[in-house]
Amino acid sequence: MTFDLAADLEERRRQHRFRYPLVMDGPCGRHARLEGRDYLNFCSNDYLGLANDPEVIAAFQQAASEWGVGSGASHLVCGHQRPHQELEEALAAHTGRERALLFSTGYMANLGVISALLGKADAVFEDRLNHASLLDGGLLSGARFRRFAHNDPLALERLLQRGEARRKLVVVDGVFSMDGDEAPLAALAEVCEANEAWLMVDDAHGLGVLDELGRGSLFAQGVNARTQILMGTLGKGLGAGGAFVAGSHELIETLIQFARTFIYTTAMPAAVAAATLVSLEKSRQENWRRQKLAELVKRFRAGASEQGYTLMASQTPIQPILIGSDADAMALSAALREKGFLITAIRPPTVPEGEARLRVTLSAAHELADVDALLTALEQCQK
Ligand code: PMP
Repeated sequence: MTFDLAADLEERRRQHRFRYPLVMDGPCGRHARLEGRDYLNFCSNDYLGLANDPEVIAAFQQAASEWGVGSGASHLVCGHQRPHQELEEALAAHTGRERALLFSTGYMANLGVISALLGKADAVFEDRLNHASLLDGGLLSGARFRRFAHNDPLALERLLQRGEARRKLVVVDGVFSMDGDEAPLAALAEVCEANEAWLMVDDAHGLGVLDELGRGSLFAQGVNARTQILMGTLGKGLGAGGAFVAGSHELIETLIQFARTFIYTTAMPAAVAAATLVSLEKSRQENWRRQKLAELVKRFRAGASEQGYTLMASQTPIQPILIGSDADAMALSAALREKGFLITAIRPPTVPEGEARLRVTLSAAHELADVDALLTALEQCQK
């Protein structure tokens, strides 16, 4: 029985690794509505609280009336409308790059970029904790695939010095999605420069959040000019959906010619691009959102560590509580849900074995009182 799917599913259930899709009955904002109950929501990536912002919603509605719902085709056929063009130009200017190119999702951007640039004669070097889409992009490219110890430039250097390759591409998350810590970008850039490698940063969780204009990890760490490829997503800090790659004119032209996940897919709806133009501007102007986030992060870290919970080395809005066993993580998630808090447990293979966690995320849409309520619930769960 080659296709004994039932047995595989049962095994996954037995390991406490079964994934249960939730059907939400409202926006995934400060609150979330599920099965007739309202929860305080601590698991969205809407870090700046822009996904439900009235001005962003109005821009989306207005653009949908003007441009329709579907873009109608891929970018290279007739799906690339004026709002897409304006958003690409705004993203290039925002990130200090010659050009930017939109992709329909961050997952597709990562697959597309790495496989467009690398082939069998090349080598890709990835942090062990990189997002799944970066790992998949590396595998899809057919290049020699190496993973280095998390945030360890020396380990990277040892790998880079071993073996020949036509092109060498080093790929990291700017902010690691499940740990919330930041890559040591200056040290990585130095190792890349010494070994003739290019550096690609996936800043899905840094964009909007880091730097006083929300330009992300590269500006916060002063390495923008030393990073050849920037990938950013629009569905997290910017509260919309889709993604972009920013870089030199030659890089973007290469992606237009060779990135299959750009060429062979329908462009995002123009209304999403138009709404993102507004959220991008708000993310630049409204630094109070980042200041509020910093306050929330500080309050949460102080309270949770005082209670003896194990936090990670993160100063970003991603504040996981490390639990360990899958079953314990599921139990804490369920206990918090009972008390009115939505925080999903993250288990292997998304995180390493024995490192199941509750991935708490904070948002500028939260109030300090929300964090205090969560801390009270966490304290009760320990008793
Ligand atoms: N990169 C990172 C680091 C991510 O966390 C994610 C989303 N979870 C992605 C890429 C994929 O982006 P998208 O959700 O737009 O496909």
